[in-house]
Amino acid sequence: MIESAGPVRNIERVIRGVATSDGAGVALTRIIGQPALPDLDPFLLLDEFRSDKATDYIAGFPDHPHRGFETVTYMLAGRMRHRDNKGNSGLLTAGSVQWMTAGRGIVHSEMPEQEDGLMWGFQLWVNLPRKDKMTDPGYQDIAPERIPDVVSGGVHVRVLAGQYGGATGPVQAPDTDPTYLDVDLAAGATFETALPSEQNAFAYVYDGKLTIGDDRPGQRTIVRGELAVLSHGERVAARAGEGGVQFILVAGRPLREPVARYGPIVMNTQAELEIAFDDIRSGRF
Ligand code: FE
Repeated sequence: MIESAGPVRNIERVIRGVATSDGAGVALTRIIGQPALPDLDPFLLLDEFRSDKATDYIAGFPDHPHRGFETVTYMLAGRMRHRDNKGNSGLLTAGSVQWMTAGRGIVHSEMPEQEDGLMWGFQLWVNLPRKDKMTDPGYQDIAPERIPDVVSGGVHVRVLAGQYGGATGPVQAPDTDPTYLDVDLAAGATFETALPSEQNAFAYVYDGKLTIGDDRPGQRTIVRGELAVLSHGERVAARAGEGGVQFILVAGRPLREPVARYGPIVMNTQAELEIAFDDIRSGRF
């Protein structure tokens, strides 16, 4: 569907993730937050975890701290239990999303609640502006049925955040005003949506092939495991390859603030990082 007719976004760069492991030894692919793409303001990290081998995920992510940003976990398959040092606990199931605001600090665990079968999903880190880095921690735990499904022809879009086809996603994050769509296109189907032109945006294909851009010189096809950093513009136009495609489309307002990060702490200055690690050592999280 055509929602606006301004300049189209094309593919500026194509990034492939790198295999790594995190937590207590969970195999994953790091797509944002690695040397080829350290960040894409306001996004600090994007991991894809996907395995049907329990040894790749069973160790999970035992207690670890976060401060200064938001973590967004979107599950495609499997079950993950989260618990934190403020007494919060919840179960992430297939199709659910958890938008956690770490703010001034939490210590939490993210552990698989299954011993076999496929575990598949994404974790995205969204930065917080300086004024909110020390805000109260909070959760938006969103069950699958609360995520709008917009279906027309061969196009199926789940709206986790932002707007598409008259639906508004349940996630609220006013400073970065994010869009997070999970898009499933049948073979040859076309997709179009408007995105605020000043926002940074990317598409990551997790199955199939996707052509982005509406004019020949700018058009390009990406495949499973590739992330396209999109140029600025008012809309995204895309088309599925012959086998159909599944991808996430994510956009957010850049914060344009200095980033000082080390592991699970993301602040504006080195001094604030040192305070954060001192607070961890002293049990002040
Ligand atoms: Fe975490």
